[in-house]
This record gives sequence, C-alpha cells and structure tokens, in this order.
Amino acid sequence: MQKTMQKGTINVTTENIFPIIKKFLYSDHEIFLRELISNAVDATQKLKTLARTEQYKGELGDLTIRVSVDKKKKTITISDKGLGMTAEEIDKYINQIAFSSAEEFLEKYKDKAEAIIGHFGLGFYSAFMVSEKVEIRTKSYQEGAQAVRWECDGSPEYIIEEIEKEDVGTDIILHIDKENKDFLEKSKIEELLKKYCRFLPVPIAFGKKTEWKDGKEVETDEDNIINNTEPAWTKKPSDLKDEDYKEFYRELYPMTMEEPLFNIHLNVDYPFNLTGILYFPRIKTNFEIQKNKIQLYSNQVFVTDSVEGIVPEFLTLLHGVLDSPDIPLNVSRSYLQSDANVKKISSHITKKVADRLNEIFKKDREDFEKKWADLKLFVEYGMLSEPKFYDKAIKFALFQNVEDKYFTWEEYKKLIEGNQTDKNKNIIVLYTSDKDAQYTFIEAAKAKGYDVLVMDSQIDPHFINHLETKLENVKFSRVDADVIDKLIEKDEKKESKLTAEQQTELTSVFRSQLPSEGTYIVMFEPMGENDNPVMITQNEFMRRMKDMSQLGGGGMGFYGDLPDSYNLVVNSNHLLIENIAKDVDEKLKGELVSVKKEISELETEKTALEKLKEGKKEEEIPQEEKDKADELNKKLEELNKKKETLLENYGKENKLVKQLIDLALLANNMLKGPALDKFVKRSVELIEK
Ligand code: ADP
Ligand code: MG
Repeated sequence: MQKTMQKGTINVTTENIFPIIKKFLYSDHEIFLRELISNAVDATQKLKTLARTEQYKGELGDLTIRVSVDKKKKTITISDKGLGMTAEEIDKYINQIAFSSAEEFLEKYKDKAEAIIGHFGLGFYSAFMVSEKVEIRTKSYQEGAQAVRWECDGSPEYIIEEIEKEDVGTDIILHIDKENKDFLEKSKIEELLKKYCRFLPVPIAFGKKTEWKDGKEVETDEDNIINNTEPAWTKKPSDLKDEDYKEFYRELYPMTMEEPLFNIHLNVDYPFNLTGILYFPRIKTNFEIQKNKIQLYSNQVFVTDSVEGIVPEFLTLLHGVLDSPDIPLNVSRSYLQSDANVKKISSHITKKVADRLNEIFKKDREDFEKKWADLKLFVEYGMLSEPKFYDKAIKFALFQNVEDKYFTWEEYKKLIEGNQTDKNKNIIVLYTSDKDAQYTFIEAAKAKGYDVLVMDSQIDPHFINHLETKLENVKFSRVDADVIDKLIEKDEKKESKLTAEQQTELTSVFRSQLPSEGTYIVMFEPMGENDNPVMITQNEFMRRMKDMSQLGGGGMGFYGDLPDSYNLVVNSNHLLIENIAKDVDEKLKGELVSVKKEISELETEKTALEKLKEGKKEEEIPQEEKDKADELNKKLEELNKKKETLLENYGKENKLVKQLIDLALLANNMLKGPALDKFVKRSVELIEK
C-alpha cells in the first residue's frame, strides 16, 4: 500500500486557544482522561447505532475500551473499537477545533443515537494539558477505509499519514510531559477511572485482573473492567425492586453502613432530560458530614460530587446520583451555577422531593411518623431555605408533642387554638428544647391544659423564627420563657397579696442573693398559692436570638456575645414569700420604720417645694429654693441607700431567700458546682432546725 504523508497548520484561532486550554479552561488537569474516554464511548455508541441501522455491516465484536499506561515510554493509550475516523474526518473534527461532530451526528440520528456525551468540541484538546505530544491512530468503519495516524505537539503544526491498522477504531496515545508524570502511575489512573468512569455505558478495561500466586501478584487472563455499564438509575423504575435500590446505594457508598430511609427515582425527558436516584439518608446529627454525597453525571460520565451551589443547599443533604445530558461536562462550577438548565433541574428536583415526601405521608402516615426523626432536619432545612418547598412541606411536616404524638400544622392548630389563644388573639405554641431540663415548666403548662411541642433539633430556633413569619398570628414560646400565666396572657387579672411597697422592699432582699453568673432581673408575679415560690425564666426573644447566633445566622453575632439574662420571678401570692415580707417588717422594725418615716417626710417637703416651682421659669426661682431642693434630693438619695443596705444586709443573712433562689435554679438544672454543694449542706441544716 502506498503511504502518503501530509503536514499542515491548524487554523489561526487555534493559536489562541491552546494556551487557554492549557491554563484556564480546565482547572483540573485530570479531566483529560474523562474527556478522552467519553470520546471513545461516543465513538462506540455511534458504531452501534450504525450497525443497527445497517450502515455498518461488519462485526461489532468486543467493544471494550482499553486503557493502558507505559511508564517507560511515558505514554497513556486509550483504545476503542468505535467508528474510527478517515483522514478527512480528522481534519474536520480534530483540526478544526470548534467543530463538534457530536452535534452534527445528533442532528442526523436524533432518535436512534445512543446517548452521546460531548457537544462542545473542546474535549479532545484537553489531552494537551498533560501531553507534549498526542497521536491518533484510527481506522474508519467505512468500507475500504485507509487507516491514518495524526500527530501534534500542541503547536498549530500537525502531521497526518497513512498507516497499517487492522481493526476499526481509534487509539489515542498521549506522550505525557514532565510536569504531569504523576499520571503515569497505575494507581493514579485507576483512581481517576474509578472517579469518572465508574458508570460509563461501555465496558472499560484497565489491564488484567490480578491474583496472588506463591506470594506474588500475577495477572490473570480476565480483563480488569472498572465500570458498571448499567447502573440502577438507567433502568426503568418498574424493573427495580426495593432491594435493587439498596444495593445500588451500597455500590455508591461502600463505606456507609446505614441504609437509606427511602429513595426517589427521577425520570424526566421534558422539558429537559434528567434521570437519577436520590436517597434520603438518616440525618439525626452531624449536618456537615451528610453533605455533598450527590454525584452529578452527564450521560453516565461523572461531572462532580460537590453539588453545592448547583442544587439548593438543603438538597445537598440527600445522597445519590443525578444524570442529565443538559448538565454541561466541560465547564467551570461558576458556569454551572448560572446555567439555566441546571437551575430548572434544581427546581424540578425540589418539587419532586416534596411530592415524594407527600406521597409517603399520605400513603403510610404511621411509617412516615416513624421515620420523622430522621427526616425532620432535612424537611425543616428545606422549608427554611426554599419558599416553594415550604409551601408543599407545611402540609406534611410533623410537629411532635411531649406525649410523642404527631400533628401536621393544620391538625395542631385545631388542637390548641381554643385554649392557647391569648388576649391579643395570637395562638401561642409552647415548646420545649429539652424535656428533662424544662420539666417543671412542662408540668405547669400541662396543669393548665396546654400542649407542649418538642423542638430540639439544631435548626429549630431558626425554624421557629421562620414559622412565625409565615404563619399569621402565631407565636412560639419556650415553656420556660415566662411564668405560666404570662406565657399565654389571658384577660383575667390576679390579685397580689403583697403591696407594691412590699414588692420593692423584697426586690432588694432577693437581689442580695443573686447568682454570680448571668444577669438577673427580679420581678414579682401574683401566681397561684400552689405554684413555686420563685422561678427562673428566660425571655423568648433574647434567648432565641442567642441560640440562632450560636448556630450561625447572618447578623446575629451581637446577640451571641451577650451574657445570658434571666428573670427571677417571685410569686407574690406564695405563703413563704408572705412570711419573708412579714419577717422583714419584724426584724427591721425600728430601723426600717424610722428610715421610711424620714423618707416620707422628705418626700412631702419635696412635693411642696415642687408645687411652688410650678408655672415659674427657671430664672424666677429663688436661689434659696433651688439649694433647698438640691439638699432634699441628696438626703433622699442617702436615705434610700440606707434603706436598701438595710434590706440587702437582711437578705444576705436570710437562708430562706437563698434557699428559694437555689430551688428555682435547681428546677432549671442550673445549680452546679460549689453552689450545689452549699445548697445541699444548707438544706440539711434547715431540715435539722
Ligand atoms: P466532542 O466530543 O464534544 O465532539 P471532542 O473535542 O471531544 O469534542 O472531539 C471532537 C471530535 O473528534 C468528536 O466529535 C469526534 O468526531 C472526534 N473524535 C474524538 N475522539 C474520537 C474517537 N475516539 N473516535 C472517533 N472519533 C473521535
Ligand atoms: Mg468529547
């Protein structure tokens, strides 16, 4: 056979495109392998189509794609038994870079074409990211075709010549450059094949399977096939059993022991093409670990496993595979994020996920309730971050109460609106974040006939906040946010047994014994005689902001830095408190009465003086009067201080006051360390008396 050889120059635009390819286009050099194998797969699929339409009459034979590494020659070879190329086709498809034959092919064979991966026409040139020279040896399927060899060193010059080649198909030989010699390691190529080619539709062999013989690893005759050509998501849902889905899950995540809760098989062909299987994992804790388990494929070619920014944040908690030819292969992440198809896909998945959950909820409520603990975080996260998901999910999201009963929001609203609507017409949802720690408060609520929800997940503070913005006239309050009568304020007014004056006096008494950690405000509430004498509550708003900032939420840092602030609520109707008030009167009788008398005398003088000033301008008031007023104020201040000191000193000595505060702390699980020790000793002492 006569051989001809031809030299040529690739058109001018190429000169500009090479450095771009080498440096910028692909941030990851390793994708060259994915691109070349994709091409081999395309070529193979095309030949199959041609055979089916009887345009190719030869034998298809074994279509396995073979990848090999020759460390000595510094080459990587990818051989396929696909449709091959003629010299003209090389010129057209390889030399004229931007020309994608795939697109042309698709146009021609629209309905018959096996899935064809590339449509950018840049894939092949990614070979130059790692090679100093690239060779193509190829023979077209066309009858009597002449095999050719093409060679190029990355400059616009190339060589094309005729060669001998027996089989139809193409060998791509990469002469790896110095900087990329890592790719000549077998283990490296194996790793990349596993990453990108695991589910390609044509068998890919990387050398032979090995076995251990006489302490040595030896090759067998069997091809080392690295891929599963028919992964579950490419099959019809009706052909798969539950066990098949589970098995595929294990194939995807061999390191994960737990089984998924359930799955969604996606199968869309209009308005875009999307297949895939998503799994709901059990998400109880460890939010972060769960993330980024979705793998994105384009016609069974791996694109990425970091889908953040591509699918909605909450969906990154799901596991599984998405495959769409509409997800472009060879572009950057930022491009993917702005891609219209990717956006459509992402909102479609959101909808599908919500629909699937709704379906399970409707079909088997009991099972749904059982799985709720594992689903809760995911659903709440979705409701928080995606308005469209919220709208669907509010119908099946469950609320669990302290009796472990489950309700949808509609059901729960019906349950509580009668008894838990306050005087401002707000429905007050009571919740606990810790059944044990807030036990006293839960009991108090139950005694009133109120219901209490359990809201104890990581994101509940955010979720609750969100619900308040979505649900009209609904407020959430943790059971320990206030004393029971004020948690849900009704119109009824309770009388207090202590006078306002007694309350101010006792405020000083109680203030003398406050715990050193956190800030406390002492206040009085006329509660029931059988309610606790002292309680510690924590304002809902402040606490929630603090909880939210701890979880990280924009602009909430300020609250996170504040010390914990509590209310020390004294029950002004409790016998013990009344007794303390009486005791104050008795113990401080002489002193307190005389100070109080002096104060009231001075107050009278002060009012009289102020009466004189009435209607006068500042300059009309005689200096004498002004001096008098100053003196009065100073005296009053001193006397009030004296009174306060008297009461504080009394309080400091009063073991009962301390004991009552400690009991309140104890009821909140807040009494610890030396304070707890002192409390125990003091209790013994008090009992002995
Ligand atoms: P794309 O795959 O997007 O078309 P590539 O740059 O990867 O772009 O490939 C350009 C063209 O070169 C392909 O469309 C195909 O016609 C041809 N080609 C590349 N590799 C092969 C191969 N192994 N066998 C046959 N043709 C190939
Ligand atoms: Mg390609």
